[in-house]
Amino acid sequence: MGYCTKCGEENSDESKFCDNCGAPLKKSYTDQTKVEVVKTSRTIEMVLGILGGVFGLIGAIVAFFIGSLGTAFGATGASDVTGLGASAFLASIVGIVGAVYVTKNPKIGGIILIISAIWLLISISLFGLLGAALLGIAGVIALIRN
Ligand SMILES: [Zn+2]
Repeated sequence: MGYCTKCGEENSDESKFCDNCGAPLKKSYTDQTKVEVVKTSRTIEMVLGILGGVFGLIGAIVAFFIGSLGTAFGATGASDVTGLGASAFLASIVGIVGAVYVTKNPKIGGIILIISAIWLLISISLFGLLGAALLGIAGVIALIRN
């Protein structure tokens, strides 16, 4: 059933114009709102994924910084930290790509997000913990909600 927006008269779904006042009825209204709901429902995953990616990048920069500081002071294993920072940087970029992709294809986007989260966690562990958590949550939400 559709209701006239002008006079409030109840009209059948087939009617193009109001039976009471003759005003044109917007029948595609419910279809339009449905499409919009589907479109906006991936915003949470995208925002979480991008946030996770940004935190991952920050973690990568911190790891870089500590790595280069360690190299300057001749600390052992410092160059490893720098290398892991580069890996984390790449993982964060992949995570952001996954976050953008999740709006187009939630399944593939979600898998990309989870892979980037695990990758980030392996790369820089504690530095990437927050970013990895956000990316992982975004990925899981993308896969669960359908
Ligand atoms: Zn009417």
